[in-house]
Amino acid sequence: MTVTPLALTRPASATDALLRRLVARVPGSSGATWQLTEVYTGDTLVELPQSTPADIEQAFTVARAAQREWAATPLKERLAVFKRAHTIFVDHARTVADLIQVESGKNRQMAIEETCDPVMVMSHYLKRATRLLAPTKRGGPVPFLTSSTEIRQPKGVVGIIAPWNFPFATGISDAVPALMAGNAVVLKPDNKTALSPLYGIQLLEEAGLPSGLFQVVCGEGPDVGPTLIDQADYVMFTGSTATGRVIGERAGRNLIGCCLELGGKNPMIVLEDANLAETVQGAIFGAFGNTGQICMHIERIYLPASRYDEFKTAFVARAEALDVRAAYDFGPEMGSLVSVDHLRRVQSHVDDAVAKGATVLCGGKARPDLGPAFFEPTILEGVTKDMVCGVTETFGPVVALHKYDTVDEAVALANDTDYGLNASIWGSDLGAARAVAARLESGNVNINDILATAYAAKGTPSGGVKTSGVGARHGDQGLLKYTDVQNLAVLKKQVMGPRPGQDHEKYVRSMLSGLKMMRKFRIR
Ligand code: NAD
Repeated sequence: MTVTPLALTRPASATDALLRRLVARVPGSSGATWQLTEVYTGDTLVELPQSTPADIEQAFTVARAAQREWAATPLKERLAVFKRAHTIFVDHARTVADLIQVESGKNRQMAIEETCDPVMVMSHYLKRATRLLAPTKRGGPVPFLTSSTEIRQPKGVVGIIAPWNFPFATGISDAVPALMAGNAVVLKPDNKTALSPLYGIQLLEEAGLPSGLFQVVCGEGPDVGPTLIDQADYVMFTGSTATGRVIGERAGRNLIGCCLELGGKNPMIVLEDANLAETVQGAIFGAFGNTGQICMHIERIYLPASRYDEFKTAFVARAEALDVRAAYDFGPEMGSLVSVDHLRRVQSHVDDAVAKGATVLCGGKARPDLGPAFFEPTILEGVTKDMVCGVTETFGPVVALHKYDTVDEAVALANDTDYGLNASIWGSDLGAARAVAARLESGNVNINDILATAYAAKGTPSGGVKTSGVGARHGDQGLLKYTDVQNLAVLKKQVMGPRPGQDHEKYVRSMLSGLKMMRKFRIR
């Protein structure tokens, strides 16, 4: 690993004045604050207000009032806001990346790529929203005399709870289709990473989003969560499986819908005919991209026994050569973990594996010389299911190599987990790779890629199966989930039921033969 300590200067755009202006939007009537720090240095950036239950209720009151007007605004005008926002977001991508980097510690490339996500989501739903939200005639039970129309109405105020690993993408991208559909949003970002979503809301308002429509409340999850869920008409949650269960339970009790995008323990299967150089490069991103803090990243790699050694040698050599350090330019290939607390979790997973017999092929240690939360790219061998990292998501730059003898064995090992978020298959024969994909219990499967191909395909729903989630983002359901259906039915003439004085048997005969006729002529 290259070690190049840097004299670090905070990005010029992340001025104290900007940061103070951003957090001024967060209600905090008790005066309590949370110290939001620059990850690379541990220095305090700004005091983030912490919202009380009364503040959260007030945020919903304001959002609800704004939502009524927004829902009454013609869809074309609502969409025009996002057309303008698309340009503004692209023009401000560098400032957004600066904020993402200071608050999350990820490297520059991942930060700039994250800025593209809301823009891609806007682009997709700008093309699709008009059709999805248009009333759809379905026809009624009696031809010509009845009609039924499917009408999509906004749910009201959507509560979004977002994690720290992609704070801008999860805070803003999931709000875009909710807003387009006519909802208001109350967002609870993670305390650590509130700046970039706050800046995104400022940009949306510059594009013409009515003020009050997109609220932000901050605080520790268990403090803010209950009031937020109790006030919301729908909850969009991204985070760990453990928290997802808490959110889902409360949403269920309140009889509101929710979408839960949760954790993973994602496998990569390398087939016999995989290209070595491409596979190694893919695995480097899969294991260490975003410092291993991507829900769809790779924590388990399954290799055919015949190719295990060559892959292992090349992969370890490449991991050891990674440029890991703190910088706000494009130099480093890997940045920091998000916090010292998270570093302790990652270290504990590695220590537990080593204590139970795993071998560290490279890495395995914290790097305080690089910054408070840096951890080395780590490759393990001999990980088993009695180790914490053998079964539980580590969410750091730690990956385990495993050998397999047959493809059946590889599939069984890949599926031997409670999670089912993402899987990656590498091989030259795409037919064979597709056949493996069909056998995997996973909401996303990427062939010859780790995750970007699936995640960037905004027209296809993306979500987890098993304990990795409920529901999906993207695709038609990524917008329709934020709507209720009104079935508007019209009866033009009183033809339902027997006519006054009609013989009952005659009515039954005519109704039953009518059913047969309609089937024959494919009317209903
Ligand atoms: P987390 O579950 O600890 O926190 C996520 C959010 O929920 C934070 O804003 C947190 O403050 C809040 N929260 C915590 N407890 C809460 C409670 N009781 N009520 C309401 N809100 C609460 O997760 P994290 O550590 O911030 O994020 C990492 C996890 O997120 C990983 O498991 C990762 O796989 C997952 N993730 C999943 C996706 C996906 O699309 N499937 C995307 C990104 C991250």
